Amino acid sequence: MSKFYYQIKGRQPAGPHREAEWAWPPVFSGMVEASDRKQAKAQIEGLYERQFPMRVLRTDITDHAYLLHIQELTEKDTYLLRRFEDTTCKECGTVFRLIDKYNDPNTENTSHDYCTEACKQAARGRELSEFRLVTEGLAPPVIYQVRQKSTGRVYVGQTTQAFTLRWWQHLSNPSACKFHMALKSTDITDWEFSVIEVITYPEGCKDRAAYITQREGHWIMTLSAADEGFNTVRPAGVADLRQVALPLACDT
Ligand SMILES: [Zn+2]
Repeated sequence: MSKFYYQIKGRQPAGPHREAEWAWPPVFSGMVEASDRKQAKAQIEGLYERQFPMRVLRTDITDHAYLLHIQELTEKDTYLLRRFEDTTCKECGTVFRLIDKYNDPNTENTSHDYCTEACKQAARGRELSEFRLVTEGLAPPVIYQVRQKSTGRVYVGQTTQAFTLRWWQHLSNPSACKFHMALKSTDITDWEFSVIEVITYPEGCKDRAAYITQREGHWIMTLSAADEGFNTVRPAGVADLRQVALPLACDT
């Protein structure tokens, strides 16, 4: 058995200045499972109780109201298969199928992520306000630590985003690093997340990114995050704590 994607296109009547042609979007798109194209066509025609031409000469277009297009799907056709899958709205959690939006002539959006335009706008509004917090300095860069309570081992990181977002990213998008492996292997109640420094740039600071990294390095060393903790690399050029105390990039 194979999956066959099909589209039934409707004819758009000729106008004073244009010829009749197949209208976009199709009247209906769907999927059937069949052993071959012929069986697929028979199934579709059974569903609609009528026959559809699959090829129409341009000169014969006025003789036909519909045109059937059938495409066999393979596993590679993920973007088409996805249209038939249950999708959860990222804003409200409603389950929807993209294909139903395509088949609804009054659909207000064909977003893959959100069920309705209202949900899409709500999500965008929140992203914008988070972005504004950061750009207006209401959410300045911070150095944070993630501490495993049972062992006291820490991970130190920096972020210029809202820090709750960074914490969420560690949990939701883990990599194979030792910190993420440890995070995944134990219960979330074994972990605490805290901000240990809010970055304020020294006057005349020219390289802000370098300054943040320097502060991060300071904390990695102070909390032994690279040696006993979850950071994989010591900050570049920092051998021990005393060197970190030397003049910083922004001091001059
Ligand atoms: Zn929604």
